[in-house]
Amino acid sequence: MKHPSKVHSALLASYFFMIVSATAQRAPNVVVIFADDLGYGDTSCYGATKVRTPHIDQLASEGRRFTDAHAASAVCTPSRYCLLTGEYAFREDYWAPIFLKVGLIVDPNQTTVADVMKRSGYNTACIGKWHLGFGEETPNWNGELKPGPLELGFDYYFGIPVVNSHPPFVYVENHHVVGIDPNDPFVNDEVADTPIHLEKMGINQIGGAKAAHSLYDDTYVGTTLAGKAVSWIKEKKDNPFFLYFATTNIHHPFTPHPQFQGTSQAGRYGDFIHELDWIVGEVTQTLEEEGLAENTLVIFTSDNGGMINLGGQEAWKRGHNQNGDLLGFKFDAWEGGHRVPFIARWPGNIPAGSVSDQLVSNVDLIATLTALTNQELSDNEGPDSFNILPALTGQPKKPIRDHLVLSAFRKTHLSLREGDWMYIPAQAGGGFSSPELGTHGFGGFPAVNFAGQKNSDMENGNIKLEAPKEQLYNLREDFRQTNNVIRDHPEIAEAMKRHLDEIREANGTRL
Ligand code: CA
Repeated sequence: MKHPSKVHSALLASYFFMIVSATAQRAPNVVVIFADDLGYGDTSCYGATKVRTPHIDQLASEGRRFTDAHAASAVCTPSRYCLLTGEYAFREDYWAPIFLKVGLIVDPNQTTVADVMKRSGYNTACIGKWHLGFGEETPNWNGELKPGPLELGFDYYFGIPVVNSHPPFVYVENHHVVGIDPNDPFVNDEVADTPIHLEKMGINQIGGAKAAHSLYDDTYVGTTLAGKAVSWIKEKKDNPFFLYFATTNIHHPFTPHPQFQGTSQAGRYGDFIHELDWIVGEVTQTLEEEGLAENTLVIFTSDNGGMINLGGQEAWKRGHNQNGDLLGFKFDAWEGGHRVPFIARWPGNIPAGSVSDQLVSNVDLIATLTALTNQELSDNEGPDSFNILPALTGQPKKPIRDHLVLSAFRKTHLSLREGDWMYIPAQAGGGFSSPELGTHGFGGFPAVNFAGQKNSDMENGNIKLEAPKEQLYNLREDFRQTNNVIRDHPEIAEAMKRHLDEIREANGTRL
């Protein structure tokens, strides 16, 4: 039996320690700024020269910049699913963006990163692009949009429900479309005025709801969302808060506020990046002014790589490379599809101006914030998420992640990163390629050909007849993925293929 007085003094000591800890340091606030389609080369701290991103650069100079960070999917919707749940989206068979008529794709019983923060007593909000659906089967745009973010652990939601390139062009606040009027409802079979860029894509606005639509002007979405984020932070500043701020910048259409138009050397695409940088500055300045900067972990990253549609082509012609030197674009299993900027700032905890080449991913958010708030995940929560907090605050010698599964637009291109190696079980990028670089030329061959990118399997924008059926790259030696070395290392590819199969089979089991 332990000596009673020793037990008593140990208890007293730990009690004293808890009191001191509680008064000395409030749990840190967390702000995650999740940009849309921002590529690896789209900011000046990652090498861009045709745009200027002083606020994002400042985050990097005051925090840590990651050079090997990846969105676990190269597509908007599944990438957001990964971030919120810590589960690979491929496990639920999610590969593509969702649109107007899709219900909530996250099971409200599933633990999200917002739930984790709620458990720790945080105020939580999602502001910005949702893109994960509303409602049981299909959204009721005229009525209650439930379940949605509020059923997944967020106390507050304001933003655009789908994506800024697709209807409905309205704002949603909590469970309702902003400005919806029972006397002026949406009419599904009626086609309203559709912006020209959407007409070209064959997308029509849904009709009715003139009042609600009139409140939405895509030129002012960025500034509106920034304003909402700033006011929510000010409102909640007295208690720990978690803000998931998903900007519509820099997804097409590129519609910066007039104050940013013509400010970059990369056309509207670059101007939209300038607006994104201003948005980041609004958030960081608010944290500073409210005395919150020291005790707030800010994470800035993107949901997938950069695109090369019309605006992207214009930017490229002016010398701006969305994804830096990486091969491919959004939607691809190639690096340009998913390797993204990732910056973390937490003064006093993350060394200022540092750089890390740790392999990290947005799917790691839930495990990381669980650790940050001294909690533990149960086995069925965030099964694919790794705690990367040690890579944020220190420089671990060993990799935290020995592998990462990366999904592209096509199911055939579910790929595996392991150490320096990248294995893609099919040919080409697996992106959402269109046959020509027209109104909306996507990733895949035409874009790569347009951009003059080199790959040993390709010639004049086509796959060579003799090209291998699968791909293997050593990213340490060849991060541009110019040379498919699968014929030189068939045993590595075979082992990675087996590992990928094992991971697929480990459904719902923590890896
Ligand atoms: Ca996106």
